[in-house]
Amino acid sequence: MTQWIKRLLAILLVFAVLGVLGYYALYPAWQQWLTEREAARIEAITPQQLAETTPERLNAERMMRDLSWMAHPDREGRESGQPGALATRHWLIDHYQHIGLQPAGQQGYLQEYEVKEHIQFSGLFRQRQRQIEAISNAANVLGRLPGQQPDLPYIVITAHYDHLGVRNGDIFHGADDNASGVATMLELARYFQQNPTQHPLLFIALDSEEKGLQGAVALFQHQMLAAEQLAFNVNVDMLSRDTERKLFAVGTYQHPWLHPLLDQVQAESRVRLIRAHDRPWWRAGRTENWTQSSDHGVFHRHGVPFLYFGVADHPDYHSPRDTAERVDVEFYHAVSETVLSFILLLDQQLAADAG
Ligand SMILES: [Zn+2]
Repeated sequence: MTQWIKRLLAILLVFAVLGVLGYYALYPAWQQWLTEREAARIEAITPQQLAETTPERLNAERMMRDLSWMAHPDREGRESGQPGALATRHWLIDHYQHIGLQPAGQQGYLQEYEVKEHIQFSGLFRQRQRQIEAISNAANVLGRLPGQQPDLPYIVITAHYDHLGVRNGDIFHGADDNASGVATMLELARYFQQNPTQHPLLFIALDSEEKGLQGAVALFQHQMLAAEQLAFNVNVDMLSRDTERKLFAVGTYQHPWLHPLLDQVQAESRVRLIRAHDRPWWRAGRTENWTQSSDHGVFHRHGVPFLYFGVADHPDYHSPRDTAERVDVEFYHAVSETVLSFILLLDQQLAADAG
């Protein structure tokens, strides 16, 4: 063997050893450092000033009535395809009609589709999911308001109405997750019916979020919606309780132009608006990234700009204890007004950009 081949092999060996060392020693340390740095960044976010009062544009009593209806034991946790979810679907249609939303589904307000059940299994390196046969019917509920400039693309407001159903005899009521988001969406629809935006608005109560965002996926199938028709997605999922009065806004990492808007929103809000949980692992280490954790993720995959509002997971998250009694009514109202402030400012800004 010639001298230079030996030298080459030696160099390759050194790189292999360094690679293995790097992976097992340096990578975890680097991720740990990133995770701690991100935690410190989030912890340090303290709004300059909280607003002195909460605007009174939305009716908290009516929102709580709607939330409580969806979280009632009779709904049996609204599992996609089950009687509680079907009842909720019809109840939503009644509300859409009463509010004066125009039908925007494929069968009136509805877009029906087949929901597929997932099974989890352990793959070689990680947990995997496989879809098996369709087991039941599901439906998204879509209504629209034309706006003052009906030719503009839609601002889409989404909230999933399904939850986990009954497990081992326990009802998972899903009051915060996500009766809260749906009740806020309905109240926003009432507000915007009276106070039209520039953009047309599309309100979508989504099904099957808890089964892997299948309702949102279905929206973009069967020529139902095209990304080109959509200016923006505002997704709300879990709005009604946090002991530290924090509301997360997820999506400014992908869309930094939202920062000045959110500064204005914060000035009108009494909740602590935290922009986080949207950074990838090479920026935030093992900090949870919520970019794909609810229906906004599907809009993002289709190239639609998005912002997701939601609270942090609490001890009652995905448990039978997520009930209407545990909602913090004052906080929930303040959060809903915060979402409204954002949509109003977004509508103005996008209309100015389009005009
Ligand atoms: Zn949810």
